[in-house]
Amino acid sequence: MKRGIFIVLEGPDRSGKSTQAGLLKAWLEERGREVLVTREPGGTSVAEKVREILLDPKSEIAPLTELFLYETSRAQHTAEKILPALKAGKVIISDRYTLSTTAYQGYGRGLDLKTVETLNRIATLNLKPHLTIVLDIPDKAFVQREKTRPGRDRMERQSDLFRRRVNRAYKLLARRPGVTRVDGGRSVGEIQNDIRASVAKLLR
Ligand code: ADP
Repeated sequence: MKRGIFIVLEGPDRSGKSTQAGLLKAWLEERGREVLVTREPGGTSVAEKVREILLDPKSEIAPLTELFLYETSRAQHTAEKILPALKAGKVIISDRYTLSTTAYQGYGRGLDLKTVETLNRIATLNLKPHLTIVLDIPDKAFVQREKTRPGRDRMERQSDLFRRRVNRAYKLLARRPGVTRVDGGRSVGEIQNDIRASVAKLLR
């Protein structure tokens, strides 16, 4: 049986994660791999219910509650979907995982980073992705993409200040060991080529 591989795509909203996830899936399937594309928050029926609470613009959520809700969704997603798929030898592509919580709840909300990292470890049962890719896109590209698809959900409607903190955090986090930064300010195809080159190393 093939070895299971866990790939995470990270970056701010509209950085192109879901576009790239779809293209990567097709490419991997052409290479004979069974691929599961999933997302956070969500990914399982219970976790999708938590997602609804988190993204409902009507929800009033304190920062610590928000952190716990993301970790709740992640714990279920990891146990019910990611770990079994890994065991079955699939390639899992997750749109967001632990780095999102570090960026949004840690740097964005200002919660204690150690607490965030500890909860990340607990919720994932210490599972680490084989590859985490951060799509790093210039601020002006966001302005353009905002025009084509305005923000609707609770997280997308946060203040500009909050979003700037998150974007800056991703630039920092992209330099962490084990994280691969991809310049997301280019064409869809160019970005995909870089992602494939990183993934190809895992397929050998
Ligand atoms: P995310 O999943 O990170 O929120 P999406 O893949 O949904 O991002 O992309 C957000 C928007 O930006 C979509 O309208 C998409 O078509 C567009 N987009 C994605 N990648 C690029 C790119 N490289 N250049 C320009 N626009 C892009």
